[in-house]
Amino acid sequence: MNTIEYKIHVDKIIERIEKARLSVSGHHIVKVVAVSKYYQSDAVEKLYGIGQRAFGESRVQDLETKTKALDKLPIEWHFIGNLQKNKINKLIPLRPFLFHGLDSLELAHALDMRLKNSDESMDCLLQINAAKEESKHGVSPDEAIDIYMQIQEECSAIKLKGVMSIGAHSDDKRVIAKSFKTTHDLFDSLGKSATICSMGMSGDFEMAIEYGSNMVRLGRIMFEA
Ligand SMILES: *Cc1c(COP(=O)(O)O)cnc(C)c1O
Repeated sequence: MNTIEYKIHVDKIIERIEKARLSVSGHHIVKVVAVSKYYQSDAVEKLYGIGQRAFGESRVQDLETKTKALDKLPIEWHFIGNLQKNKINKLIPLRPFLFHGLDSLELAHALDMRLKNSDESMDCLLQINAAKEESKHGVSPDEAIDIYMQIQEECSAIKLKGVMSIGAHSDDKRVIAKSFKTTHDLFDSLGKSATICSMGMSGDFEMAIEYGSNMVRLGRIMFEA
């Protein structure tokens, strides 16, 4: 795609997001995080050139490589992956705008301790395993509220901003919809301090928005025609 074709491609995605968000409410604002994990820095630069500002990576190493390669651009970097404990110290100095994959109380304690040691704090989302899938990270929906409250009480360097979930892996739209509803119901019950409900990827973002997502993480669709 040349630049004009690429702009038209991205505009079409924005129009689809517009349609989905307006079906919820004119006041429902949705932010797009472009997930660049399958692509190189030059692709990020190209998308930045047509106006995208928030990007997400799912490996600490890739986040480090890209933040360094693109440090002249004021990009808002999100860390959307799962964090192994031995990578915590590598992630902290990269100062991600938001970490979407906080997935256990144990990880929260480990991250909180290391943040405090470096005099830092981090905005995070609690990852919910909404459909209770074995293959997925995240806390079970039954325990999510308790764990969220406990992190808020015990981990003062972690600033919880809401929840993140990956839609259920299914061919049945009702099953996917149910997983989004479960996550959004939890988000609603967290009260006003929870402001971000991150759900929806290339294949299911419209449905996620219809169920109340206000942050979509779009990979392939943002980079490929
Ligand atoms: C890869 C990834 C995405 C983007 O996936 P696409 O299907 O390419 O849009 C979103 N969220 C998470 C957590 C991911 O790992």
